[in-house]
Amino acid sequence: MNFHNRDVKLSRLCNEALDEPIDDAERAVMIASAAEKLEELFDILRIDHQNDHNTRDTPQRVAKMFVEEILQGRYTAPPRITEFENARAYDHLIITGPIELRSMCAHHLMPIYGHAYVGILPSAEGKIIGLSKYDRIVDYFASRLQIQEELVKQIGDYIVEMTKPRGLAVRISAVHMCKTQRGVRSSHRSRMVNTCFWGDLAASSELKSEFLNECIALDRAGSE
Ligand SMILES: [Zn+2]
Repeated sequence: MNFHNRDVKLSRLCNEALDEPIDDAERAVMIASAAEKLEELFDILRIDHQNDHNTRDTPQRVAKMFVEEILQGRYTAPPRITEFENARAYDHLIITGPIELRSMCAHHLMPIYGHAYVGILPSAEGKIIGLSKYDRIVDYFASRLQIQEELVKQIGDYIVEMTKPRGLAVRISAVHMCKTQRGVRSSHRSRMVNTCFWGDLAASSELKSEFLNECIALDRAGSE
């Protein structure tokens, strides 16, 4: 098995999952192939990965980190979600956050970190899921090469599909290290914030303000 371009399903974008999750054997081959290529890259960059004790195992370590951590949401199935009937027909806005967000930018391979907030307006006919599942969903979609605008949509579309709420909001506030460590080298306090709304939340400015105000309050509480 090899991982040359022609074998990659090119229809898949960098922030989408492959058609099928890959198993442990495929994963091991992928890590070994990527480590070889990283050794080559180090050679090109004149970094001695054979004799320098600091970088001796770095190609292997970085290959493993990409496959098993940074990009794992590309190679694995979505988190298992236990859904409950909305037995009491709870129909008010539920907001959860800040949810830790760690991702990597598709343009520069630099970390993106910050927080996500999810607002759910359940429907009597839909499902509700345990609060910790929102953290797992955020982490799953963030563990790919991402674009923040698309990440927000992917998280929301998935929750809508799984739980059929009356309305939903997803907001991400994050630092992009491609902007703080290179280019304009902006302050680490400089964030990108974006929010998407679905269903009744998209239609009601009152619900939108309720969600956004709660996000600000949660953010403030989290930084105290
Ligand atoms: Zn970037």
